[in-house]
Amino acid sequence: MTSGSDKYFVCGANSVSSVIEELKTTCTLSDSQLLNILSTDKYDQELFSAADEVRRSVYGDRVFIRGLIEITNYCRNDCYYCGIRRSNEQAERYRLSADEIFSCCQEGYALGFRTFVLQGGEDAQCTDEFICGVTARLHDAFPDCAITLSLGERPESSYRAMYSSGARRYLLRHETADFAHYAKLHPSSMSLENRMKCLSALKKIGFQTGDGFMTGAPFQTAHHIVKDIRFMQALSPDMIGIGPFIHHRTTPFAHCPDGTLSLTLRLIAILRLIFPKALIPSTTALATLCPEGRILGLKAGANVVMPNLSPRTVRKKYELYENKAHGGMESAQELDALKKAVKEAGYKIVVDKGDRAGF
Ligand code: SAH
Repeated sequence: MTSGSDKYFVCGANSVSSVIEELKTTCTLSDSQLLNILSTDKYDQELFSAADEVRRSVYGDRVFIRGLIEITNYCRNDCYYCGIRRSNEQAERYRLSADEIFSCCQEGYALGFRTFVLQGGEDAQCTDEFICGVTARLHDAFPDCAITLSLGERPESSYRAMYSSGARRYLLRHETADFAHYAKLHPSSMSLENRMKCLSALKKIGFQTGDGFMTGAPFQTAHHIVKDIRFMQALSPDMIGIGPFIHHRTTPFAHCPDGTLSLTLRLIAILRLIFPKALIPSTTALATLCPEGRILGLKAGANVVMPNLSPRTVRKKYELYENKAHGGMESAQELDALKKAVKEAGYKIVVDKGDRAGF
């Protein structure tokens, strides 16, 4: 990430507390003040502890868990950063059946999961009929659980059908709020306009809506991130997923540098201060970048973790980026190890649907 120039360094060390106060009061900071805190690590410790305090005032020490089921790696899109893009002929494609998805949830329920996230590429065979059938079956069988979908851009009628079948949350990152930057990350068949349209439809329908973007995405500047924050302030998402870009050998961005732990943690803290009630996961990408990533994310203000509940046989095939973590504490079956690590960090994993506070 490049920051532009030093002229943005306008707030001195002794004004950190006022910057934090301004972030907390729905971010009255100017763009140049935001650029300033984004572009330096000198306020990090203050930001992390203020974010932790805000998160504790809303959610206490509770950490919500979501069982992530990667239902298909077929995708009609060709995003330049993503390992399951259509053009990747080396990807071994798979699609889970309704029964396979159901048994993942049965296993997850027994482990203590009360939210299931069904994520996948934009797979033409994941019709409304299929998705709504699966959602309705899960909703019936696990009435005390939330079903989250993350299946990309679809028509509003499709989102409505999903809501009617019992899904109540949807994750769709806007990826970047800058039109020129969006065009550098995606082929011309995709548009930021449609992404935004989908997000606003999801909000309108009543989904708890998750937004987000990658930190350190190719060509990203601090100015882009300020735009991302402004976009989020307008959207007011219930969930915010922020994770570092990590290259994948088969993509056009194979040789681009990965995002950093430090920028990702700083952004988690800034977003926690601006959105005190948001559900913010400490993402798998963060854990892939660094073994302590998950825990550091929690300490910087995140309050959700999403262990992998996909059948073990497909986990490696859902390779959005190189060496995506899926073993150890990333695995739903290793929840005890995660619980222990989270406890040592001063938080507590709970058996709870984990709605957004006040929803
Ligand atoms: N098809 C769904 C799910 C996509 S995968 C959708 O479009 O929403 C979920 C997220 O993974 C994407 O939104 C993207 O931000 C992230 N992702 C994809 N490739 C990545 C990479 N190389 N590094 C880090 N994150 C990546």
